[in-house]
Amino acid sequence: MTKQISTGICYLCQGEFSKATMTKHLQACQRKANDAAIAAGHRPGRQSKKFHLVVEGRYQPMYWMHLEVSTGETLADLDQFLRDSWLECCGHLSAFEIGNQSYSSGAGMAGGWGEDLEDEETMHVRLDKVFSPGLKCRHEYDFGSTTELNVKVLAEEKRETKGEPIQVLARNTPPPILCGVCGKPAVAVCAECSYEEQGWLCAACAKAHECGEDMLLPVVNSPRVGVCGYTG
Ligand SMILES: [Zn+2]
Ligand SMILES: [Zn+2]
Ligand SMILES: [Zn+2]
Ligand SMILES: [Zn+2]
Repeated sequence: MTKQISTGICYLCQGEFSKATMTKHLQACQRKANDAAIAAGHRPGRQSKKFHLVVEGRYQPMYWMHLEVSTGETLADLDQFLRDSWLECCGHLSAFEIGNQSYSSGAGMAGGWGEDLEDEETMHVRLDKVFSPGLKCRHEYDFGSTTELNVKVLAEEKRETKGEPIQVLARNTPPPILCGVCGKPAVAVCAECSYEEQGWLCAACAKAHECGEDMLLPVVNSPRVGVCGYTG
């Protein structure tokens, strides 16, 4: 596959920018929106602290999101958001690895795996207890066919308290993936063969794929595409 420049959409202005320039763009875009609101006579409402996060697939960096998250949200809230937008297939366990500490969705559950769990914290921890600007950590979903995400805290800022406690500021556009057989855009991926080029298929080639239609998953805009039963 040739190297493509990853691009994404800014949710504030709907403009398309490269992954590399998005952080800069968002700063400018937020400032502009703010200035415009003040110029229009909008009186700023109550402010609250928010983290600006970037999340990306550890091994699929072409899937990424910029998020604005209230600092009073918990790791469990962020985990749920990541599941809803990118990960959830069948309720697997997940964990954040922050420094040497693991915060697991399974911690404290009755009948856990025993010894290991005693070192794990639950996810019911406020973000401002564990996050600070510059921090990098990892999120893992499903300890069998794991999807790993890199999470980076870019900044802590005061923003007007409005909207959802977790908001998407920007998100990657779907990377173009081509059928490994004929080169048309791929719409399906075989769960058995997703590691091979031939496992990514257009509609016509999908019908002829040897593993059968039961193994096929839709090509979706997520780092979990083609894994387990993930359908988006
Ligand atoms: Zn923008
Ligand atoms: Zn699953
Ligand atoms: Zn094809
Ligand atoms: Zn297959």
